[in-house]
Amino acid sequence: MIIERDKVNQEIRDLKAKYGDDRSALLPILQDMQGKYGYLADIVMQETAHAFDIHPVEVEGVASFYSFLHTKKKFGKYVIRLCQTISCGMVGKSRVARQFENELGIKFGETTKDGMFSLEYTNCLGLCDLGPAVMINDQLYAQITPDRVPILIEECRNDFVEFEFSEVPRAKLYKKGPILEHGEDHEKVMRDALAMTREEIIETVQESRLKGRGGAGFPTAFKWKLAANEQADEKFVVCNADEGEPGTFKDRYLLQFQTDMILTGMTIAAYAIRAHQGFIYLRGEYDYLRPHIQEKIDAKKEKNFLGKNILGTEGFDFDITIRIGSGAYVCGEETALIESMEGFRGEPRNRPPYPVDTGFLNRPSIVNNVETFVVSALICKKGASWFNQHGTEKSSGTKLLSVSGDCARPGIYEFPFGSTIEEILKEAGGEDAKAVQVGGAAGHGVDRKNFGRKIGYEDMSTGGSIMIFGPDRDMLKVAKNFMEFFVEESCGQCVCCRLGSQKLLEGIEMLEHGRCSMAYLTELMKLGETMQLASKCGLGQSSPNVFLFILENFRNEMLGRLPSGGNNE
Ligand code: SF4
Repeated sequence: MIIERDKVNQEIRDLKAKYGDDRSALLPILQDMQGKYGYLADIVMQETAHAFDIHPVEVEGVASFYSFLHTKKKFGKYVIRLCQTISCGMVGKSRVARQFENELGIKFGETTKDGMFSLEYTNCLGLCDLGPAVMINDQLYAQITPDRVPILIEECRNDFVEFEFSEVPRAKLYKKGPILEHGEDHEKVMRDALAMTREEIIETVQESRLKGRGGAGFPTAFKWKLAANEQADEKFVVCNADEGEPGTFKDRYLLQFQTDMILTGMTIAAYAIRAHQGFIYLRGEYDYLRPHIQEKIDAKKEKNFLGKNILGTEGFDFDITIRIGSGAYVCGEETALIESMEGFRGEPRNRPPYPVDTGFLNRPSIVNNVETFVVSALICKKGASWFNQHGTEKSSGTKLLSVSGDCARPGIYEFPFGSTIEEILKEAGGEDAKAVQVGGAAGHGVDRKNFGRKIGYEDMSTGGSIMIFGPDRDMLKVAKNFMEFFVEESCGQCVCCRLGSQKLLEGIEMLEHGRCSMAYLTELMKLGETMQLASKCGLGQSSPNVFLFILENFRNEMLGRLPSGGNNE
């Protein structure tokens, strides 16, 4: 296809009219232009750069950061991305991969000669309970078996009809609690919240002792109060729906089935801090949920639950816009997310300053997880004491968990904080597990002797991922999978994270092939500890966790792989 400069120029002007004039429109414009042309040609990046009065190299720098943006025409009409995360690996990803390769006559990383199909691996698609999962262009397919592969390919050849929202893969819900069984009407929740003062809302959330549900556990009310106290011409509410932690899919469930309550929670937060604009930063892999969320936003606007003078509250204007990520795990970190929203590479910022005073466009911003908005809306309606009935002293309430791996019932569970790993395993049918990873690849491993440990901020905090590893799992393979993930997803700012993750991966491969000496293994452990201390953000700080965990808890299994069989220890 010949790309004409004048046409591109006009298209970018039209997109600027749609997304705005400032740099924060850059990513949506690049996404749309790639949608038109299949990739971001030099001419597209040059014209985009001129439109924003920046150097084309800057645009290329942004485009090259995100795995879903392409500066070269390397893909076919249908890009088949197979999830390579361990949860999919445990349920037959390799067999599915071989079948795709056989059917198409190409390897992963290649495109068929007729330009129809490309095969790629991708990181977690958020379907860990329904693996193996593939994404074909923007659409997700769950529970792929080798015999479904030729059918999928045939469907593509027959022009691939877009699926309806009702066909979106659904997580199974196995255990409800007070959050998922709230029984509240979102409109009533909003009306009642507006009958409260801003101070009362923040006080109620404070009394509930709610902590952020993304995993970091920062007190929600404290964040809101800091932002509320800032004097600024603009403030922002951001819903972090960039659920990229391997093994986590509970936000996908909420985005599908609690959309109204998420929007209500965001609106209440906006009222409390006096913000007029909100954003949902939705991970690129969940783009298929965008029409559904937009429909809910539009319905709220029609009934004045969003818009100007909301429900007659003079001066309370609030609108919500969806922003789509482009395949970068690190953007789940709030400052990286803000960088991405501003049209930059999603690289974490130095802190302080914090988003509550210097967030999106340098204005006070609160960034909260999807679940946090649902829970805070319900707390405003039902009261802090309702919430405090559940959980422990330091971790009030319940937690939504995404359970996957070697168990009979992978899916969504709501457990009160303080529940033990053992209780969760029993409910999910994974009692014979040899280990559990709590909190995703960036979380912590727990071996069998520690299954009495509890989920909660005082013991094992989690954003919601529980990955179960059965008695026959090779923990070195698990560690290798996580480390490959971190090598791919490191933003590269810190040497210790960028090179350290690579060195740990090489060490795991040496162990795999019986080529790692005890002395080198000891060096790698020291390197892991250094990375935990010296990395700038949570990604680098947590990437060595799994490596150190398996060496500590499966020592004999690992030492048996040393050339000496560990005899020189
Ligand atoms: Fe980037 Fe890693 Fe440093 Fe985080 S720790 S800022 S991901 S290089």
